[in-house]
Amino acid sequence: MTETPEEFYARTKDVLRMPPLEDWETFPFEGEIRLRGLQPPAEDEKRRFGEGGIDCHVCGKSADDRIWEDEHWQLTAVGPTGLPIVLILEPKGHYDIETLPAELAVELGPLMQRIERAIRAAGDIGRVHIGRWGEGGEHLHWWFMARPARMRQLSDSFAAIWDDILPPVPEDVWRASVAKVVAALG
Ligand SMILES: [Zn+2]
Repeated sequence: MTETPEEFYARTKDVLRMPPLEDWETFPFEGEIRLRGLQPPAEDEKRRFGEGGIDCHVCGKSADDRIWEDEHWQLTAVGPTGLPIVLILEPKGHYDIETLPAELAVELGPLMQRIERAIRAAGDIGRVHIGRWGEGGEHLHWWFMARPARMRQLSDSFAAIWDDILPPVPEDVWRASVAKVVAALG
């Protein structure tokens, strides 16, 4: 049995719970925090950029946008941002995960391993967080977000929020880190 979005909303909107924020060591905020009211379902599902490959900026990427590529995949460095290294992996063809051809899907696992190893080879990286949300753009894109070694407060899912809170990594440091990743990718 599933709920319609309206049933889901009706059941939850008045009984939201405040989680134990004070126990969340990775939560970036403190002080008095109030919950936002839950908004009802919209009339329709949200649209994503590049639907059907039309005006898709990922399909339009050039060699200048990429730090690495092979026949089917491309890697872009985002930044500098707050975290030391943030990369995006995309297929060159316009696919989402459910439309990714089988021959590309089998490449994905080994490639993710290879990218994680390359990021860690940059040095002083504690963990690499890998994420796929796909809410903004239709073209499949995987996030690789590296946090500094021993910075435990930047662990887990709030790392993406910390990325916006921390001041950007100095440009020269960031470029050197990206160069190390590219060198490690071979
Ligand atoms: Zn595309």
